[in-house]
Amino acid sequence: MTIVLATTNRKKAEEMKRMFAGHDFNFVTLNSFPGCPEVVEDGKTFRANAAKKARAVSKFTGLPAVADDSGLEVAALGGAPGIFSARYAGENANDSENVKKLLRDMRPVTDNKGREARFVCCIAFAVPDGKLKTFTGHIKGTIGKAPKGFNGFGYDPVFYPEGCDKTFAEMTDQEKDGLSHRGRAMKKLYRYLMNIP
Ligand code: IMP
Repeated sequence: MTIVLATTNRKKAEEMKRMFAGHDFNFVTLNSFPGCPEVVEDGKTFRANAAKKARAVSKFTGLPAVADDSGLEVAALGGAPGIFSARYAGENANDSENVKKLLRDMRPVTDNKGREARFVCCIAFAVPDGKLKTFTGHIKGTIGKAPKGFNGFGYDPVFYPEGCDKTFAEMTDQEKDGLSHRGRAMKKLYRYLMNIP
């Protein structure tokens, strides 16, 4: 089955492809479909945004599409940055600007207990007739006080998954995939796809 990955985030697409490596699915990215309209992520939840992207891309390409919407929720910040994770430090902010803002906002929270956070990933699978399934994965952890490691993307250098003494950015791809919110949601999607008659 050919499935379109509805993302322009190269790192995310790599993670998603990697998780299905060796299986019978042919993933193509939006780069193969120039002219696909950009979807405005104006939903109020990860699910609403993922569903909107997957539906739009499936309709445009005529192929099944997978979209994910993901982000970091920090308890001490009332769940921020949440659905605004990609643009926490501003509309065109890059990963390092977002991380800097997060560390600045978290400065008053010195106790590790108060630095609890979780990553959330909602994956939507849509087919051209409009049918939709969604799958969610979470991983709890804490926000470190300084960036550590160079792998991954986004907030990986400041996120210590529960029970781990290294950040996602200090882990190998395989270590991160085995724990991550995206890995968990992708496993659910995989089980679903394997059971489609
Ligand atoms: P999206 O493209 O709207 O889903 O934006 C997700 C944003 O959440 C990314 O730009 C990152 O800032 C953050 N994020 C999501 N997943 C991860 C992850 O696995 N590691 C680090 N940051 C992530």
